[in-house]
Amino acid sequence: MQSVSGAGSTATVGTVLATAPTFTVTDASGNALANITVSVAVTSGGGTLVGAPTRSSAGPTSVGTWTLGTTAGTNTLTVTVSGLTPLTISVTGTPGAAARIVVASGNTQSGLAGAQLTAPLSAAVQDQFGNGIANQQVTFLATAGGGSVAPGLLTTNASGVASGAIWRLGNRGGTQTATATAGSFSTSFSATTQSSYLLDLRYFGSAMSPEAQTAFTNAANRIRAAIVGQISTVSLQGADLAGCRINGLTGTLAENTQGIIIYASVAPIDGVGKILAQAGPCFVRQTSVLPAVGVIQFDEADIQNYINTGRFESVVLHEMNHVVGFGTIWEDKNLLRNPAYILVSDTIPTLTGSLDPRFTGASALAQCLSASGTATHCGAAGSGIAVEQCGTYGTADGHWRESFTSTCGGSNRAPTNFTAAFDSEVMTGYIEGTPNMPWSAMSIASFQDLGYTVNLLAADSYSVPSLMTMARLRAAQEADAGDRPVERLLRPRFIVGGGRVQAIKRGNP
Ligand SMILES: [Zn+2]
Repeated sequence: MQSVSGAGSTATVGTVLATAPTFTVTDASGNALANITVSVAVTSGGGTLVGAPTRSSAGPTSVGTWTLGTTAGTNTLTVTVSGLTPLTISVTGTPGAAARIVVASGNTQSGLAGAQLTAPLSAAVQDQFGNGIANQQVTFLATAGGGSVAPGLLTTNASGVASGAIWRLGNRGGTQTATATAGSFSTSFSATTQSSYLLDLRYFGSAMSPEAQTAFTNAANRIRAAIVGQISTVSLQGADLAGCRINGLTGTLAENTQGIIIYASVAPIDGVGKILAQAGPCFVRQTSVLPAVGVIQFDEADIQNYINTGRFESVVLHEMNHVVGFGTIWEDKNLLRNPAYILVSDTIPTLTGSLDPRFTGASALAQCLSASGTATHCGAAGSGIAVEQCGTYGTADGHWRESFTSTCGGSNRAPTNFTAAFDSEVMTGYIEGTPNMPWSAMSIASFQDLGYTVNLLAADSYSVPSLMTMARLRAAQEADAGDRPVERLLRPRFIVGGGRVQAIKRGNP
């Protein structure tokens, strides 16, 4: 037997071979013999054969109508004649048109916010039967969480797989996504950001709008992206929330926390203007002073303005920083020098005359210097980072310094005749006019100084303004100096731990 034509040809998987292969059965001299009993059958590749001959022709004999199998690769059929060596005819099935892209590997990983994931992303471009298609361009893109994927464009290999894209998670925390796209098809990868810091957000009071809730969820994700270590479990048995003295917050707890519980609400406080928010820890741990229960309450009359201007998320992140301890447990941790205020009783703040309060944490100081901070901003070793000196109790002593000034004027002690210090950083005491309020590595490092385990990769990029930009910022700031809502910072009221709830006495009772 001899193959005459068609052997070695190619066709798309699952389709009929356009020209059927032929063979002859010959005598010893090579003359084709008709009417010999033959049997033709598919022997590999999973195809089907219709109209296969049962006897040979006087010339080339067609094998019949051969539909190739759906898997790309070799398809064979075998012609058998009694007494002769069987004849095998092979053809190749090639992949069809691209019908989808699927994840090949790298899905559902987890890593620190801002860090590269270990396993590269790879995706396969396939036809309708799942055969990989070579030489297809695949675009990789981080689509949620603020990360990036590089390289962003890869070509599929012989198996149809584009691999080797490295995903660096964004600094947003939470669940993040990336997509791989080929032509009109795409697929997505998800990843979770690692954190062992448990933050339990609980809403109280009247129902919060979905956009306000989203801002809270996103802020909580950012906090958890930055504070990543587990802290001690503490019993809240008997903790009476009414002791926090926040409208609408009541109930007695009977549970443990391994992190922090944050009660959040949007409620009427004092109408448009004046107080925008009150926030801080209420119950803190013994010894470490790390907050166990805190509260954030916004004035419902004021938040829509911030939502409309895209600034609400930054404002919520700012308040959540306070609840976790920024500016609210500094004195308790002995990290504040030269405060502008002292408490002479539990509730009455008195000016000390200091216009140069300083945060003395070493980790934050190092980040202040690496953000191009000058000695004036960051201080020499041991003297600390410039803390807000103006404003009412809480604004002063509880934020990075917005601006350098020699005087604080008016009933709110606003800075006058000032030049920018940390300016747009989200943890300064004044809200910017635009949503660009970076959360710096300096702020995140300050949590390390408080005793948390942190991830500096969760920070936004931030540089301390240079003297040249300061002049420009100063003009811009003075233009919106009138828009200065008031924030009420809450200090810890109770210590929990050792099976007890103890009230904190401040000042000289
Ligand atoms: Zn604040």
